[in-house]
Amino acid sequence: MVVYRPEPDRDSREWWERIARHEFAVQCCDACGTTRFPARAFCPACRTEAWHWQEVDPEGRVESWIVNHQPFMPGAREPYVVVMVRLAAVPGCVVYGNWHGRRPPEPGERVRASYSRIDESLSLVNWEPVDG
Ligand SMILES: [Zn+2]
Repeated sequence: MVVYRPEPDRDSREWWERIARHEFAVQCCDACGTTRFPARAFCPACRTEAWHWQEVDPEGRVESWIVNHQPFMPGAREPYVVVMVRLAAVPGCVVYGNWHGRRPPEPGERVRASYSRIDESLSLVNWEPVDG
């Protein structure tokens, strides 16, 4: 199977490295405490550039999703579902990932992250229903 590899940039590289170790974290502003995802260089609330990683429980609720029918990702079988999940621990953060349920997602349902390990330097984030 051909696997689409994300291309980490300056801001997202460490996030991908953490995900490869199955460590789930978001950025947290050193000045005002605002959490953010995806990774970026400065705080969207106060524009401070100092920040640290904050490990958070990878659980949340389905905010939205898309069903992709376009074969733009080599190796992926269409259709596939990408969900947006609002994290319970840091409700300001909405994280995306592959849907790993046996049925379509439902609005607001509880989900938990799992990881698909591709190799030692890459894992992908999946979201699975907590209640089956
Ligand atoms: Zn801030």
